[in-house]
Amino acid sequence: MSNHIIIENTTVVTMNDDDEVVFGASIVIDGNRITTVTTDSVDPALTEGATVIDGDGMAALPGLVDLHYHTALGKGWSDHLPLFEYLQSCWYPMIRALDPEAAYWAGMASYAESLRSGTTTVNDMYRQLPSVARAAEQIGIRAVLCNDVADDEHDLDSLADNANAYRTLHGSADGRVEVLVGIEWLPLSSRALLRGARELADELGTGIHIHLNESLSELEISQTKFGRRPTEFAYDCGILGPDCIAAHCVWLNDAEIALMRETGTHISHNPVSNAKLGNGVARVPEMLAAGLNVGLGHDAAECNNSRDLFQVMKWASLVHRANRVDASLQQAPDVLRMATRNGSAALGHDTGQITSGSIADIILIDLDSPVFTPLMPDHPGHLFSHLVFAADGSCVDTTIVDGQIVMRGREFTRFDEEEVLARANEHFRAVVGRMVVPPEYANARVRAGS
Ligand SMILES: [Zn+2]
Repeated sequence: MSNHIIIENTTVVTMNDDDEVVFGASIVIDGNRITTVTTDSVDPALTEGATVIDGDGMAALPGLVDLHYHTALGKGWSDHLPLFEYLQSCWYPMIRALDPEAAYWAGMASYAESLRSGTTTVNDMYRQLPSVARAAEQIGIRAVLCNDVADDEHDLDSLADNANAYRTLHGSADGRVEVLVGIEWLPLSSRALLRGARELADELGTGIHIHLNESLSELEISQTKFGRRPTEFAYDCGILGPDCIAAHCVWLNDAEIALMRETGTHISHNPVSNAKLGNGVARVPEMLAAGLNVGLGHDAAECNNSRDLFQVMKWASLVHRANRVDASLQQAPDVLRMATRNGSAALGHDTGQITSGSIADIILIDLDSPVFTPLMPDHPGHLFSHLVFAADGSCVDTTIVDGQIVMRGREFTRFDEEEVLARANEHFRAVVGRMVVPPEYANARVRAGS
């Protein structure tokens, strides 16, 4: 059996340095690498025994990278509250009530929805990492995992849990599963925990994933606890760096943007979550002007209600245009680069573009879908516009991760989706039954003007 996959006669949105789009091209995949992107005919010796996909009427894109992700089980549950109250009354009680099986089925359901909408890599902060790693291995997604680490009194994960997860899981599933050090956020952290996270990351030779400057409530708490803004204090504790992914960063001032720049910290911009939770609009134009690497994330199904990164791409353009009254901001190729190359660069991966030598994480988009009408032939600008402003995850026909076809013709190849959805429902109800809400948050209500 040949190791090759050949996608013939397709439109290749390469996301290379020139954002080149190649029409009528073939892609040759050998094992988990792309070896050739060519408009010439493919050597017949390669096609013999290979899996050949007719790419006519399709566009091949690099798989999308969801740079800030939480596996989730409780979409839509008690999600009417602002961030701080929601976390205390719903999210933390729910992830405290997880058991290994609930986490596994949550992972399966979350990753299935992501693969279905074209995401091939997730940067996932969650608990019960052996369970979600097992889900990632089985379902075929590329998963960078970290624990939800906080100070002990919050009854979440510890740095020891995260170290153990790294030692047992990092590099598993043929390298598709990696482990970073995760820090929930500063309101649940002490100086010692933050310094410990950096020491652990350095000792293990891995990176850090943290929420920073997400809400005004976080800024207030940080000032009260530490006398510093969150990014300033993270800098003081050595958290920032080129191996650090900071999620949200809605409320960065100029000095904090400079700290991100000085340290080479990567940013995950999550505009849908920020809007839903009433957290504000991140200063992405200033971040880009400062030269920061900004990728995109959906955050969690609880604070987005969809894992579709196509929706996130559209928001990542429109929200800034509306906010600044400036239609020149966030042009379509720039947004698509955020969802592919920028996320991949933040994670240090060889994905995010369709060029020879890159890892074969590729999605095929059905250009016969009605949202792509009208479409001018051989016109890159028109295609980019549709991909960012008109398409959604239902346009994804085929998903390839690490040279393996995990969805084709919208059918998953490695698992029974019906069973996954049924078991996720079952475990959601069981987890809700086990949730213990702290009494002071049992009657949390929406605060006007919060
Ligand atoms: Zn988050």
